[in-house]
Amino acid sequence: MRRLAFVLGSVFLAMTQANAELIINGQRVTVTSTTPTNQIFSPQNNFQQCIANLRTQAISSGVSGSTYDRYTQNLTPDYSVIEKLNYQPEFSTPIWDYLSGLVDEERVQLGRQKLAQHRDVLNRVAATYGVPAETVVAVWGVESNFGDIAGSYPLLQALGTLSCEGRRQSYFRGEFFTTMRILQRGDLTEQQMKGSWAGAFGHTQFMPSTYEELAVDFDGDGRRDLVSSTTDALASTANFLKKRGWQTGMPWGFEVRIPEGMSISDEGRRNKKSLSSWLSRGVVRADGSPLIQGNLSESSSAGLMAPAGVNGPVFLVFKNFDAIYSYNAAESYALAIAHLSDRLQGQGGFSNAWPTDDAGTSRAERREIQQFLLNKGYDIGTADGLIGDKTRQAIRQEQQRLGLSPTGRAGQQILRAFRNENAQKMMK
Ligand code: CA
Repeated sequence: MRRLAFVLGSVFLAMTQANAELIINGQRVTVTSTTPTNQIFSPQNNFQQCIANLRTQAISSGVSGSTYDRYTQNLTPDYSVIEKLNYQPEFSTPIWDYLSGLVDEERVQLGRQKLAQHRDVLNRVAATYGVPAETVVAVWGVESNFGDIAGSYPLLQALGTLSCEGRRQSYFRGEFFTTMRILQRGDLTEQQMKGSWAGAFGHTQFMPSTYEELAVDFDGDGRRDLVSSTTDALASTANFLKKRGWQTGMPWGFEVRIPEGMSISDEGRRNKKSLSSWLSRGVVRADGSPLIQGNLSESSSAGLMAPAGVNGPVFLVFKNFDAIYSYNAAESYALAIAHLSDRLQGQGGFSNAWPTDDAGTSRAERREIQQFLLNKGYDIGTADGLIGDKTRQAIRQEQQRLGLSPTGRAGQQILRAFRNENAQKMMK
């Protein structure tokens, strides 16, 4: 597992269907808490003393004494990261909101530009690692919005603080020491090592330990640089997927139709069965083309995944889906990347609609909703398309005023209501 999923435990469960924004900010919990978190943290330990105590452990992990002293000498804690760690989201986002923010027209267009711009590198990456350009670019787009949003927490400070306070200190200590080993080797400078509050950083949002294990120098300058070298970043993403089991020439999966009344209660990503058995149960591709085609055979095995139940889109997913899943242990996350890669290859949206009468919005539409709210005088910051607690609260108030169900969601329903209201205003 690459990131913090297991660290966050129950928080993450709620977050597996959480906001798109959380992920592109580099770390899931940042967005819901641009406002202060729900508890103010006060430190239990003396920071300087704790850092001094960790020196021996750092040295036994391969950090030299002088490296440790150099990078901890003036280190101060930032307890806001503990508040992020402790943050309990009050809101669980439906998968259609999650996907519509991550895979929207804006990201598809930008992704196509990036594909063209980095065509040569991506071809070499595909030839070396066997992962298609579109999949690599989709990961890049979801992780950091193509390098745009990579986080601004100084890693040593964030990880040093997490090493001395809060849950999972031993995990964060490992990441703290790894950060120093990366610096010690000269791959990156301290200035470059900025990322999410939990330590994911660079174009690919790798944790330091993932960086150490899987980053590659693909531009040949002798340094593995996933912060300022797109070439290294794209190749490292492909290397990650390959090392996590990507099978060249195979699909991640595809949308299917299942017979009415078919029980799916025992099915899931992990419960893989042969395509011949799915075929015999009457499962067909949603686009009507044959279930078995390309490099697939009757014995290829796939799991049936229905993120919103039988009334929403249903998928057969293969090992390559698991490889994407290992990037960030959440099925909705893996589906976003898989779907974006399909869109980059020219495919359209899902055949089946999500089971909701209030579909999700793109980031452009979210900005529009926020602009309406700003015009109405709500103090929600800027119209940045990131739906945080303040925006949700304002939406809830507006939904109440308009006689809609107060979900706090920035969905199509509230957008339509605002647009109608505005049109009526213009008529007067
Ligand atoms: Ca390099």
